[in-house]
Amino acid sequence: MKLISLLSLFIMGLSAFAHDDRDWRTEYLSYLYLDYQFPQSVEEPKFRINVPFYKEKLAVLTGMSPVPGTQEKILERKSIKRLDLARTFLKNEFESLGFKVNLHYFGNGTNIIAEKLGTKSPEKILIVSAHIDSVGNAGANDDGTGVIGMLAIAKELSKKTYDYTIRFVGFDREEKGMAGSEVYAATLQNKSDIIGNINLEMLGHNSKKDGAFHIIDCDSILFANRAPKYGSDKLSAVMKEVIISLKLDLTVVRTCTGRSDHASFWKNKMPAIVISENFFGGDPDPCYHASCDVMDERINYPYIQKILEATLSTVEILISAEK
Ligand SMILES: [Zn+2]
Repeated sequence: MKLISLLSLFIMGLSAFAHDDRDWRTEYLSYLYLDYQFPQSVEEPKFRINVPFYKEKLAVLTGMSPVPGTQEKILERKSIKRLDLARTFLKNEFESLGFKVNLHYFGNGTNIIAEKLGTKSPEKILIVSAHIDSVGNAGANDDGTGVIGMLAIAKELSKKTYDYTIRFVGFDREEKGMAGSEVYAATLQNKSDIIGNINLEMLGHNSKKDGAFHIIDCDSILFANRAPKYGSDKLSAVMKEVIISLKLDLTVVRTCTGRSDHASFWKNKMPAIVISENFFGGDPDPCYHASCDVMDERINYPYIQKILEATLSTVEILISAEK
């Protein structure tokens, strides 16, 4: 009986994968499987991700404070006017960190690309992404937390040079069928030079304060039947090792979803993972796609810091040539 019900849960998960208009929360029941429980650190690890910087920039992106040098606030990120304001803000921020910024126009959207070339093999590129648009709300958690996560990582990476190229992409129109990443990934040249994509999607909510989060590669045995391959598991393996070596108090909860921009890389046969709060594991943000997704006490900064710390070190390993 137990086996049959587990089997039916799995089949439900399979059929949900085929429907593109589902709510994330009802998509997978696979969160029953805990992947790793990392040891709790005895002493506070030395963190590099700068939380005051992060909060200051998130406040601008979510309309809490005006865009520097203007009276204007980014109250939502659905209208072209406010998305342009957000892109101008991000462009200035990345440029002040020494990144070269380009806008990628497609259909009725615009992605923003910030890049720092590698010094040894610049043709090899790691892409870190998050989506800049929202459903019309302030989008503090979805996906302000991911976008400012890119900026916080860029701030650290600006201090050194690396062998390979790091490219941050703020995707537009993720909330409209992942349109921005779909066009972008399809038009990428020399796909074999793409080390992979690390997509940051909703990092802020951890009401249980248990450090549970997702690194989603869909490559495990559990998801073998419907998972894309392309070496995505190699990216998540690096991150899991980083979590252990940094003694970060985080737990990876296994799940599988194609419902964010990483899936556009899978479609084009490139490795990709998505980093997210424990959305499918019983702790989804109650303000998901709601007007209450503002920068309030739901946003758990120590939790975000740990996830970004792990992401930062993972990125550094992936853009350094093997010795
Ligand atoms: Zn999102």
